[in-house]
Amino acid sequence: MSILLLGGTAEARELAVLLDQAGADFESSLAGRVVQPRLPVGRVRIGGFGGVTGLEAYLRTAGITAVVDATHPFAEGMSANALAACAAVGIGLLRLERLGWSGAPYAETWHWVTGHDEAAVVAGRLGARPFLTIGRQSLGAFTGPLEHTAVVARVVDRPDLVVPPRWQIVLSRGPYELASERAILREHASDVLVTKDSGGDWTWPKMEAAAELGIPVVVVRRKAPATGLEIVSDPAAAAAWALGFLDRR
Ligand code: NAP
Repeated sequence: MSILLLGGTAEARELAVLLDQAGADFESSLAGRVVQPRLPVGRVRIGGFGGVTGLEAYLRTAGITAVVDATHPFAEGMSANALAACAAVGIGLLRLERLGWSGAPYAETWHWVTGHDEAAVVAGRLGARPFLTIGRQSLGAFTGPLEHTAVVARVVDRPDLVVPPRWQIVLSRGPYELASERAILREHASDVLVTKDSGGDWTWPKMEAAAELGIPVVVVRRKAPATGLEIVSDPAAAAAWALGFLDRR
């Protein structure tokens, strides 16, 4: 095995298909957060490595030649660990990250915030019935500021934390269509949409629906990437990079 593909995203699964088709030796890694993850083709390992030192040990013992970090743009802990561990072991690291929505239609009308704490405050100021689409793990930042607000939170798996009594949890998983996004925002009479700058097409229709319905949108900005890190947004470019490493062996 030579390429480690840190996944959990649609782009990572696309890259796995390309590497598999090219006959490359690779293994995908998932965190194990989601109860029924969408599995990529090829070999898959599931679960954390045990921080930077655990990942370093894994890279050495598994004989990894290079790592593609194709985790979600907001999986900042894993990306930081990959950067540190690859530097320590002296192997190549490529970041595969889908483009954000900062240049998308309507982006200038959105309320851009720097974190979930700020998103909670801004959402509470803008609406009385926020629709949260920021993922289960970030809900904790909203339960305090929006304790008495009629929040609808859409998540893939039921959250571990106890949510306030006025909150409603909607369990579902994308990708979504414009018609169903329009319908769910109407059904809950949502008056503010909260999202991360996840980018990509899979969760874009909610942005279109919010624009149509005149609902304000709060968007959590991405952190700036690490300096010097090579980044591509196209799985085909990441495949070419990874295959180049295998050819050089
Ligand atoms: P995170 O906060 O950056 O990572 C926390 C810890 O989870 C890491 O230190 C690592 O544990 C483990 N981990 C994360 N990704 C892993 C992977 N691909 N393989 C093995 N271990 C992994 O990550 P997160 O935001 O919880 O995201 C977890 C996973 O869900 C990621 O794979 C990401 O691509 C996917 N995802 C995240 C989001 C999001 O909004 N954050 C959305 C969609 C999908 P150790 O320190 O023990 O190695």
